[in-house]
Amino acid sequence: MAVRNSSGFLSPMDWKRGFDSDYNLCKFQYGYNLQLNMSQRSLSEPLCKICNLPTHDLPDLQFRIDYHHCTLCEYIFMDESVLVSPEEEKTIYLQHENTPDNEGYMQMFNDFIKWAIVPHADHVKTALDFGCGPGPVLASILQKHGYRTEVYDPYFAENPENLSKTYDLITATEVLEHLIHPMVELKKLVRILNPNGIMAVMTLFHPNDTSAFQDWWYRRDPTHIGFFTPITLKKMAGLLGLELIDHDDKRIAVFQKRIPVDTVQNEMEITPE
Ligand SMILES: [Zn+2]
Repeated sequence: MAVRNSSGFLSPMDWKRGFDSDYNLCKFQYGYNLQLNMSQRSLSEPLCKICNLPTHDLPDLQFRIDYHHCTLCEYIFMDESVLVSPEEEKTIYLQHENTPDNEGYMQMFNDFIKWAIVPHADHVKTALDFGCGPGPVLASILQKHGYRTEVYDPYFAENPENLSKTYDLITATEVLEHLIHPMVELKKLVRILNPNGIMAVMTLFHPNDTSAFQDWWYRRDPTHIGFFTPITLKKMAGLLGLELIDHDDKRIAVFQKRIPVDTVQNEMEITPE
């Protein structure tokens, strides 16, 4: 059985394994294998992990990796047979130069705060940076802007107590593309977001074009396993009791919590397909 922390959030192992460990025990294969034996491919296309409708196959012919594409909500996700292990994922994270010394990295966050947070954050006093990484750079900048900021990361800042508080603002930068079951994780974040709270996310939107997707650099990071467009994010918002209030058509989206998620009618069963 998977071990979940006291807040109910996924442990680092679950983060990559997925939500239902009993299911995953027989489902997941570990190790990132670019030479995947094609006999390991899924026999049928899985349901969309966002809207639960059938997907169609979107194979990477060069590296022989299967993705699944939902034509309704436009979500694309990697087949679970080729996911990297949690250990491999952590190793890859540590290779990134995500430090305050990296000017480009700092500029990215400053732009993010200026564009996605400041215009919507008059009421914001408390913040959580979810998936902060090994150096909580964004959190330190948010602090300087006057937001009282906590951090959580399943690999680098596993502070379950920070997931039992509530916040006016939750940020998740370069996080969504790593989630096996994004609706499961986001639903938990929505629960700790105060009414009218802001959720600001950053993840590069995919081109929604089969040919362009084949050449898309963003998916060459093997830890990037799920890809979104504004259509996807709008669908997610509706299911989560959020409103998509802004996006830049490239990589940034801003949500606001409109109603308690537990009162959403027809609350979707968020389970692995
Ligand atoms: Zn879908």
